[in-house]
Amino acid sequence: MTSRRSFLQTLSAPVWALPFVTPSNDEKYHEGKVLRVALIGLGSYASRVAEAMKDSKRAVVAGLVSGTPSKLVSWGAKYNVSASNCYNYETVDQIRNNSDIDAVYIITPNALHKDMAIRMAKAGKHVIVEKPMALNAKEAEEMVNACKKAGVQLLVGYRMHFEPKTLEIIRMRNAGEFGNVKFFQGLCGFRIGDPKQWRLNRALAGGGSMMDIGIYAVNGARYLIGEEPTWVTAQETKTDFVKFAEGVDETIQFQLGFPSGAVASCLSTYSMNNLDRFFLNGEKGFAELQPSTGYGPIKGRTNKGELQFPHITHQTIQMDEFAAILLDGKKPLVAVDGEEGLRDMRIIDALYTAVKSGKRVSLK
Ligand code: NDP
Repeated sequence: MTSRRSFLQTLSAPVWALPFVTPSNDEKYHEGKVLRVALIGLGSYASRVAEAMKDSKRAVVAGLVSGTPSKLVSWGAKYNVSASNCYNYETVDQIRNNSDIDAVYIITPNALHKDMAIRMAKAGKHVIVEKPMALNAKEAEEMVNACKKAGVQLLVGYRMHFEPKTLEIIRMRNAGEFGNVKFFQGLCGFRIGDPKQWRLNRALAGGGSMMDIGIYAVNGARYLIGEEPTWVTAQETKTDFVKFAEGVDETIQFQLGFPSGAVASCLSTYSMNNLDRFFLNGEKGFAELQPSTGYGPIKGRTNKGELQFPHITHQTIQMDEFAAILLDGKKPLVAVDGEEGLRDMRIIDALYTAVKSGKRVSLK
């Protein structure tokens, strides 16, 4: 059997830009353009994305950007990317002249997202950036504005926005099946290991657990309640002052208030395992996801019973959907654009302010 991947690998890059109309016997190909993506930062999540893209119907790894020359060689061989489509962080601006690449996907530590996104926007490429999209709302706004100015699109790697059980709960909520939503609980955390990793370095991470894992509860509260919060409160607890230095949060409990009167109660932590749960309660029913944001399979049930949807690798479906958004103008049910990422960053800024002041912080 010729896999779609090996078929793609036999094509020269410019041909990918042509309508894609060559189905094999057992696979269906989308009749449309394929999104050619350069991955920036070849670390552990980029590796997961690249593997998942092997099964993507519409997105291919077409370029690689790394600060580690040996990775460009090994990844280039593994994903069939020619040396002419490989860059380091100094040469990457030359990507503007590379017609083999439509979009870049920035998967570096958080502090490096903003500058690279702006550089790539100026180079005329669509920008996909991992969560959190930036260190704070100010940076996120700069990214949104730079992409607007350059006429390119900006998307954030919110893979849960395409997860079938999550989407079914949103559909049920929109259909009024839970009645008026009153409450959301989001528990997100894991025990973080190596104290030397960038996630525990404020300069590179921009904070601690909230930037990395708590953001899922912030984002989940918004997409499951279906409203934008108007206020936040937050309380921090720290048990290890060495591992979690000043400005690196270990655990934050936080609350969000919504215009309808619904409230969210959430926990973000780097010091507890088995915390991956969303719960939504309405006047007529409830929904529960546990696990809710891990790589899956996600498990879900509502007051009507178990949610039965096959597991699809999140990063595969995300890349197919990103291709549809960037190439066909598709509008996803839950936004994944820069404005969506910016909303989360504004809330996270407010949560850090609330931790410091101990007071309720209003969101405009
Ligand atoms: P890793 O540390 O595994 O990889 C980051 C890569 O970035 C490195 O391998 C390196 O690649 C590059 N890099 C460039 N500068 C630095 C630097 N100063 N320090 C460390 N690495 C550097 O991180 P992850 O892959 O786990 O995370 C990357 C991003 O992806 C983060 O923003 C994170 O929040 C996000 N993420 C999202 C997930 C999701 O489910 N959506 C899951 C996990 C992470 P090279 O050697 O090629 O330059």
